[in-house]
Amino acid sequence: MVLPITKLPAAILRRPVVDVTFPLSKDIRRLLKDMVDTVIKADGIGLAAPQVSRNLNLAIIFLEHAGVPLFPIINPVIVSSSKETKVIEEGCLSLPGVFGKVTRPKKITFEYFNLQGEKQTITDDDWIARVAQHEIDHLLATLIVDKFDAVTQGAELLPKYAEHKT
Ligand SMILES: [Zn+2]
Repeated sequence: MVLPITKLPAAILRRPVVDVTFPLSKDIRRLLKDMVDTVIKADGIGLAAPQVSRNLNLAIIFLEHAGVPLFPIINPVIVSSSKETKVIEEGCLSLPGVFGKVTRPKKITFEYFNLQGEKQTITDDDWIARVAQHEIDHLLATLIVDKFDAVTQGAELLPKYAEHKT
């Protein structure tokens, strides 16, 4: 089932997430399936639970075009990041139409749990590193609007997504 994607300024995108426990509940398994349907429908490359209104510490990475089978990352943590950085233009399903340059470490090592609750470690300096950092940011309530070096497209849409800080 395709779920509605939460867009800024929705407060859920700025709320802390809660770790997922194992074995996965029926609810979480259903959620993961729905997130897969949702990311495919939205033509995205990753989706974090807060983007479908759930404050849970999980995301999915969908890089089939880069030859990587879809996989969920549950309770992910970045354990090391390279000093070397890379600037790439990024967008986000939670602020459609806006793109901008974002600087991130080129290479990272991160840990996460798979569906079976087994700890996995990935070191990557390409697409997985990029998307994992973007999704893990979501789980830390950080969005690309906080990180743009420069907005390259859709700057006129930013007021629509702006949060009212009180
Ligand atoms: Zn995003």
